[in-house]
Amino acid sequence: MSFSISELLENKQDQQFNLYHQYLNHQLLNVLKTLGFNKKYVRAENQYLFDSEGLRYLDLLSGYGVFSFGRNHPQIIKAVKETLDLGLANMVQFDAPLLAACLAEKLAQFLPPELNKFFFCNSGTEAIEGAIKFARAATKRPKMLSCDSAFHGLTTGSLALNGSEIFKKDFYPLLAAETVPFNDLEALEAALKTKQFSCFVLEPIQGKTVKIPDPDYLPQASALCQKYNTLFIIDEVQTGVGRTGKFLASQHWPEAQADIITLSKALSGGLVPVGVIAMKPWIFEKIYRNMEHAVIHSCTFGRNDLAMTAALATLDVLESEDMMTQAAIKGKKLLSLLREKLLPFEMVKEVRGLGMMIGIEFCPPKSLKLKAGWTLLEAANKGLFCQLIVIPLFRDFRLLTQVAGPNCHVVKLLPPITMSDSDIEETANAFQQVVAMAHNFPGAIWDLGKTLAKHSWAKT
Ligand code: PLP
Repeated sequence: MSFSISELLENKQDQQFNLYHQYLNHQLLNVLKTLGFNKKYVRAENQYLFDSEGLRYLDLLSGYGVFSFGRNHPQIIKAVKETLDLGLANMVQFDAPLLAACLAEKLAQFLPPELNKFFFCNSGTEAIEGAIKFARAATKRPKMLSCDSAFHGLTTGSLALNGSEIFKKDFYPLLAAETVPFNDLEALEAALKTKQFSCFVLEPIQGKTVKIPDPDYLPQASALCQKYNTLFIIDEVQTGVGRTGKFLASQHWPEAQADIITLSKALSGGLVPVGVIAMKPWIFEKIYRNMEHAVIHSCTFGRNDLAMTAALATLDVLESEDMMTQAAIKGKKLLSLLREKLLPFEMVKEVRGLGMMIGIEFCPPKSLKLKAGWTLLEAANKGLFCQLIVIPLFRDFRLLTQVAGPNCHVVKLLPPITMSDSDIEETANAFQQVVAMAHNFPGAIWDLGKTLAKHSWAKT
């Protein structure tokens, strides 16, 4: 009998959670069960997921930002199938693959002209790992600088740049790195002045808090890096490829000049993982300085034909469907509707965002009744309140959202740019109803809070 994935999926569907529990991350499964997110998804189309009971979910998480252009985009699938059918000589390794060269040529059209040398890899964290190596080789300074609320990936190099101790504490010693507060130019200059840092690595919008920089932050940070001979690495892994209404989020501040830019996530079209480091040629040449060093930084799958194809097709879709304009227009609409419906509530501190990257920040209530509930949750786990928003959004309205990061009070939306006007209205209305419920104490939402507070995962 020939091997069939459809048959395998059908035959094993009943065992899905048991197998996952036995062989994979059982703690994640426990979290999913506790929060009620343990659904069996069987199909996805554009902005929607469908579960085994035929229920439809609006995906406002888009695989952590991978599906900016929707899931299973027919044009990207077609391109990948075409490449498979061509029977190309993929990953010869001792060759100069045409599709990689074509992707580099295409990317150069979207990026600042001085960033015209590229290294392809497989993920966001791998792009950051590579960027760290290029920066260290170029400056001969071992230490790195990042922001206190930063997230740049979870392998041991990029982990050192992470602002949050919860991700790092089990893994010391890490590479030498320090953090400065986001949006604080004085602190940045004080650190850079020491001239010990190879690079300052920055997400233009902080993914774990959806903090947006002050208007002069990126331009001034870029000038300070130049002044103290520190490379400015802008991490656009989450914000890049059109999500914020421009190809790069940092292009909203055109005076900011990066030395290195990292991309990944959406560039894959959600089909084949890909990562990119784009940089100035002089930095590239510090590693690839002669033939002996031609493969000093390399990876086996980096330039593979399927990833290059998915990225080329994704960039084609970006242009043909005018995704950047769509992200700008829809993002503005979603942001203003959410502001209109949520800002009147006392526990909503701010609704902020750029394009299709939006954060809703909550704050402690003033009224005594609500305060009791909030304090109970905070004592169990800082940031637990946001689960009281995310869970009913999913359970009652079938909207998939996330808490932006550990210990924070921000619910984050990274919707597919392709979501419709009626999805936008549905989202804002659902948020309004759930946030209204959260302002009713006692009530069903706070009962859920008590149950969550009791769970051991809150404290470990
Ligand atoms: N950099 C940023 C800004 C990210 O948001 C992420 C992931 O969320 C990464 C790097 C790491 O990417 P990956 O999960 O592909 O390793």
